[in-house]
Amino acid sequence: MGSSKKKGQQRKAAAKKAISVTTEGSSSGVSGGINSSSSGGGVSSSNKIVAKIRRGNNYATKKLLATTPGFSYEQSGVLSAVLEFLNRCEDETFDVVMASVGGDLKTPSLWLNILVTATFVEPSCKLQIAENIGPLISCMVNDTKRIFFKSNKHWREGIVPFVNLVVNVMESKSSGQNDIRMIENMQIVDAMLQYDGLLSSTVQRGFWSEYRPDIVKELRTGTPLIIFLSKRVIELLVLNIGMKGEGRTRLFEIGATPIVNKEYDPNCMTSYTAELVHRVQITENQRHNVLGMIQRLIRDADCVDKGVITEVIDWGANCVFNYDDALKAGMLLLEVMYQGADIVRSAAGNSQVLSDTHVAFAIRAGLIEMCMGFIERFGEHESFRYDNELPMHDVIICIFHGINNVSLHNKTAKAIRSKMGNIEALLRLEEVTNNDKEESLLQIKSIVNLNGSYCCRCNKSLTKTEVKLCNGCGRMSYCSTACQKDDWLNGHNDTCCKSFTSELIGCFQGIYWPEEVPSDERAAAKLKKIEINMNMIQLKLFLDNSETILTQAKGLDTPLCDCIVKFDLRTCPLTVKVEKYTTAFSSQDDIEEYEESRSKDNITCGYTSNMYIRGVEEELAIQRFFPHKWLKKQSK
Ligand SMILES: [Zn+2]
Ligand SMILES: [Zn+2]
Repeated sequence: MGSSKKKGQQRKAAAKKAISVTTEGSSSGVSGGINSSSSGGGVSSSNKIVAKIRRGNNYATKKLLATTPGFSYEQSGVLSAVLEFLNRCEDETFDVVMASVGGDLKTPSLWLNILVTATFVEPSCKLQIAENIGPLISCMVNDTKRIFFKSNKHWREGIVPFVNLVVNVMESKSSGQNDIRMIENMQIVDAMLQYDGLLSSTVQRGFWSEYRPDIVKELRTGTPLIIFLSKRVIELLVLNIGMKGEGRTRLFEIGATPIVNKEYDPNCMTSYTAELVHRVQITENQRHNVLGMIQRLIRDADCVDKGVITEVIDWGANCVFNYDDALKAGMLLLEVMYQGADIVRSAAGNSQVLSDTHVAFAIRAGLIEMCMGFIERFGEHESFRYDNELPMHDVIICIFHGINNVSLHNKTAKAIRSKMGNIEALLRLEEVTNNDKEESLLQIKSIVNLNGSYCCRCNKSLTKTEVKLCNGCGRMSYCSTACQKDDWLNGHNDTCCKSFTSELIGCFQGIYWPEEVPSDERAAAKLKKIEINMNMIQLKLFLDNSETILTQAKGLDTPLCDCIVKFDLRTCPLTVKVEKYTTAFSSQDDIEEYEESRSKDNITCGYTSNMYIRGVEEELAIQRFFPHKWLKKQSK
């Protein structure tokens, strides 16, 4: 309640400001008109017309609309006169306005028609119009009140010319050669878009026929034209708006606008972008343009919400025989997984900022199943592996890599767990029929293997409620107090339960990179969650890879206590590499410290993963010690 009231007040203030600007602007406009008219021919007739328009004369206004060749709306002062009248549309009735000038004009929509004609014959007047129609826009964009000069009838009469005016002001005159439409100029677009509600109402007008039976019933014949013109404005803006300055914010505003006015339907959650994706699957009309718009909104303006993700996956899942569409859906999903607009990413010099939230939602919506479906359906397609641009094979690999890179992040980890039944069934059902399938199945298995809750000491699989976290650091998970005690006496002791200090290298069990915990609370909390998820699977990975570790150590001809096992969780499937400690550490100091602090009974393991904190990709590395004998015991 409070916020909507406040917004209303703001809008009113903005309208008032627009009025005061108008009065100044228009009075100077009028004097300009008079000055210039004293020098040229046809002066007196032009003066007479202005005088009649100012008096609200119906006949003269209509006659002017029939166009007088060579007549200047701007120079004559007609434009200012009309704008002044229109600025009274919020506070006064049309009858009161007419009475104040003794006019007999039949409807205020004639003034709108004059503005529409003026934009046609005299494009130079567009800026003056754009800068001085605040109150008009306030009235016309309110599609719940639908009041213009305090009358619903006038709003009905005015809406078609109003929508026409909006298109005309912002769009440059077409060359006639082709259908390419351009923005008139950015100054005009800026002037128009400063008005609250213009952008969102224009988006919503495009969907009146489906979602606003109330308006369709009221307007009858006018609706198709309004819808057509409103869609055209939005298309014009999405495809042509620059990314500099406020461009991106505006694109985002368009893409995130719910397709139905919240005042009419507070429950409408469908954003413009989601609706556009939905439409691209069901229509062949204007496909190229619609796809271009979707790409701009998702890639450049980061318009990604749950609806968008669901629709893209839905699209991909439904492209049963259509390789090209499936590929487009796949590429859009790849964009969806990343956070922040393309332009922001490249400016930050980082193209790998994965969004835990987006990936998690996509997994829940069926991302993994969709990718497996692609391999099933299109694995034999001629372009599957080789394409001029990005072939589907690479898109799928990139998607799985992306999932893998955030699989230990809180939301994605939960999403994978929630899908575990499905994925395991998928893995059981899928028979390996070709290399592509094998590659993907290995990736999925690796992702699944990273996910689970286990006791850090005994590797027992734990349910959510069984997990007991160390009450010192809150980062180690145990099945019981017995296991916690055991681990405390054999490794996770006083020293390493504390935060990292550089003196602890070599004897530290826990995070050793980044060296400092982020000062930002949210980022620190995020990091902690990743640490917990990562700590839980370390012992399992160690045991699962027993044979590999023993084989590699044997190959190095090095005793286990001199080996460092490096798990790289950033690759998918993950890689395990055993190195001699003398080559594993880069500095002599580190080597010496390791020699001092290591225990002959333990094997040192390093786990490296990624984290995405505050829009930056960072490495996360954790060190753990495990007794050699565990390894031998398991491998037998
Ligand atoms: Zn345990
Ligand atoms: Zn602890």
